[in-house]
Amino acid sequence: DDTLDTSWVLRWAELAQHAVSENRIALMELDRAIGDGDHGDNLDRGFTAVSAKLADASPDSPTAALKLIATTLMSTVGGAAGPLYGTAFLRAATALGDGPVDAAGVAALLTGAVEGVTARGRAEAGDKTMVDALRPAAEAARAVAEEGGSARAALAAAADAAAAGAEATEPMVARKGRASYLGERSAGHRDPGAQSSALILRAAADAAA
Ligand code: ADP
Ligand code: MG
Ligand code: MG
Repeated sequence: DDTLDTSWVLRWAELAQHAVSENRIALMELDRAIGDGDHGDNLDRGFTAVSAKLADASPDSPTAALKLIATTLMSTVGGAAGPLYGTAFLRAATALGDGPVDAAGVAALLTGAVEGVTARGRAEAGDKTMVDALRPAAEAARAVAEEGGSARAALAAAADAAAAGAEATEPMVARKGRASYLGERSAGHRDPGAQSSALILRAAADAAA
């Protein structure tokens, strides 16, 4: 059976925490170049809190686990990224509902996440934000679902698309968030939020592998 369950979300959160912690300095350096340098610390604090919360509460469905991740990130990450990631996980939970985490479920939850981020932050494609990683990831997952692929294949495609999307932010001029204050000088640097989104989606794929 290819359908993922609550243990996938728990493993995802655990691998995301490892990835964020291992990349804390790298994310700080990306944010120091075009922001205020706190993105790595913000996310490391958030995902450490998520791990503690999930261990404590042992949620009994993927949706309950995603909601717990959302509320924990909202109350611990801060900055621009905290409410955006919080909304992403909350809308992922709502989009999934009671449905199975098959490829269509993966596509639905990623689509919900990117819709939540854009509803909250108003960034469009090409604005040099996390949306430039999340949107292609959701599109890639939908394509796999439409072809009848597996949840694991949808997650792998999403992670690959997010990595490519994060890399593609390098030449962009930021039009949202702190980096937009730099105008043209924001070009030539990868967006930290797009990079962290790529790491988090790679963790999602690895958790299912
Ligand atoms: P802050 O800028 O408040 O210090 P962080 O450093 O934690 O917050 O997060 C910065 C990241 O948030 C950016 O790299 C970008 O990806 C993302 N971001 C900022 N504003 C927006 C927005 N309006 N829409 C989507 N993402 C955004
Ligand atoms: Mg910052
Ligand atoms: Mg900040």
